[in-house]
Amino acid sequence: MRAALLQAGESRFELGEIPTPEPGPGQVRVRIGGAGACHSDLHILHDPGRRPAAGAEPWILGHENAGWVDALGPGASGFEVGQPVAVFGGWGCGHCPVCLAGEEQLCDPGRWGGIGAPGGYAEAQLVPATRHLVPIDGLDPAEFAPLTDAALTPYRAVRKAMPHLVAGTTAVVIGVGGLGQFGVQLLEVLTPARVVAVELSDAKRKLAAELGADLVLDPAEGDTGAEIRRFAGREGPAAVLDFVGADATIALTLGTVGRKGLAVIVGLGRGSAPFSFVTNGVEAAVTTSNWGSRTELAEVVELARAGTISTRVERRDLTEINEVFDRLASGEIEGRAVLIP
Ligand code: NAD
Ligand code: ZN
Ligand code: ZN
Repeated sequence: MRAALLQAGESRFELGEIPTPEPGPGQVRVRIGGAGACHSDLHILHDPGRRPAAGAEPWILGHENAGWVDALGPGASGFEVGQPVAVFGGWGCGHCPVCLAGEEQLCDPGRWGGIGAPGGYAEAQLVPATRHLVPIDGLDPAEFAPLTDAALTPYRAVRKAMPHLVAGTTAVVIGVGGLGQFGVQLLEVLTPARVVAVELSDAKRKLAAELGADLVLDPAEGDTGAEIRRFAGREGPAAVLDFVGADATIALTLGTVGRKGLAVIVGLGRGSAPFSFVTNGVEAAVTTSNWGSRTELAEVVELARAGTISTRVERRDLTEINEVFDRLASGEIEGRAVLIP
């Protein structure tokens, strides 16, 4: 099968032919309909500290996958060949406390499909168990693929913030890229909060307004923190969701979160900022948020089926993968690019 391969020490993919994997006992092979190009793969390409474990090169990345069941291994059940499915990529050991509680993505990123195990930048992906599949009958796998992360991750983040976001409150989304655009939509669909979007790119600020953001700010102009505080009023924002995670955005997040509010750090920009009574002066909670669970993915499928969340999918042939990541790096992908093998 055709696959985009990443060799150790390389930051560009090369297209190659490798043997199509055969599913072993309990496993299932999925024919990939589309694989979303996530910014996390850019971190992997350009930051040697974030490479998957050595020894399994060349790696096949791609953790936002959907397609059709292609072959079931001995004993694998619950699905039929040809059935459209989303792949839940946060594979865990299946036996530890977080896995048993249904939050396998919290177990060990080294096992995740498309990070530690071969992913979806290929014609097919081997999935270790049918419990990682979510049926998407009636949905187009290429359109749905990005939702397995770009919507699932903000879904979990917004769910964490929901108890704070009662009527009359303000939520802030920082970074309206692949994930943040779903952050804005999910806040609109799931909460009565007013939404402030902070985004560097003109085109994506326009998109944020179209998706329903009540105030859209360019962090390169004026005092963004002061404008957020003015808009949110005396209580301050009840939730601030940072989809960038750089020093500047974490400082803005922690510097604006309101009284009894929640700051959710989602972006993996390697940033940090101080948070204390002295610098921030509020009682507030700060948390990270890690992908989403299989159950939350099933809930995202229901939202997509109801037509309440969607993305602008830019379909690209897998052979264009390097160009797609160059454009993602320079902020030129408006919704999500999906690689079609
Ligand atoms: P993206 O490139 O599509 O979007 C990032 C957006 O942030 C862009 O629109 C960019 O213009 C904007 N931006 C950059 N710096 C900014 C700043 N200082 N202020 C305001 N806006 C700014 O990326 P994505 O695929 O949406 O991923 C976003 C981040 O989330 C990445 O760091 C990615 O690795 C991470 N991520 C985390 C998880 C998780 O589970 N925590 C899951 C998936 C992705
Ligand atoms: Zn991702
Ligand atoms: Zn586990």
